[in-house]
Amino acid sequence: MSRIEKLKTEILMPDPSGIEKAAIHLANDHLVAFPTETVFGLGANACSNTAVSKIFSVKNRPRLNPLIIHAATKEQAIRLVDFPVDLEKLIDACWPGPLTLVLPQRNDTIISKLAVAGSRNVGIRVPANSVARDLIAKLGSPIAAPSANISGRISPTRAEDVYGQLQGRISSIIGGEQCAIGIESTILGFFRDELILLR
Ligand code: AMP
Ligand code: MG
Repeated sequence: MSRIEKLKTEILMPDPSGIEKAAIHLANDHLVAFPTETVFGLGANACSNTAVSKIFSVKNRPRLNPLIIHAATKEQAIRLVDFPVDLEKLIDACWPGPLTLVLPQRNDTIISKLAVAGSRNVGIRVPANSVARDLIAKLGSPIAAPSANISGRISPTRAEDVYGQLQGRISSIIGGEQCAIGIESTILGFFRDELILLR
């Protein structure tokens, strides 16, 4: 594991002032754990290689494993990809919610190459948890976020479990909420006009 700077991990409330502080941390390329309806996410500004690189170091995650990109709205999500019209009904039914779509990125993509592990494709979703969506909206750019655990350990659904694993390694955790679902999102790819279940 690469050397990690020791940080004082702040627990923030899931209210406008906590979300604003968390967004400032993210804008400064720090990592913030936040609740989603699936599990807690370990978030970084998805447009910053510096910030995204920290996710892989802190989790000890292989850099070949791409990260899911979280958007605040359907409109923000589909701006990142060449969006197939065939999928419009699907996203109207499933977003916000625990469905990730893997689609080709637009040529003028703003997403960090590290976040997608160098792939042409990007995995995107719009989380149902309103704290997560407010945080992304406040930052003003999408958030790359795998589960907020060390790789190989259990994905956390409570802020105290995130603290137990990542305390001293990340800037802040937005606490006060439990994850309603507790398991990771479903992942679908759309390749050659066919939907493929990837997870
Ligand atoms: P997680 O490990 O829960 O963070 O989910 C990440 C998983 O989403 C990866 O291991 C891939 O299976 C899938 N995924 C995310 N982004 C992409 C991508 N750009 N291309 C293909 N699969 C992706
Ligand atoms: Mg995970």
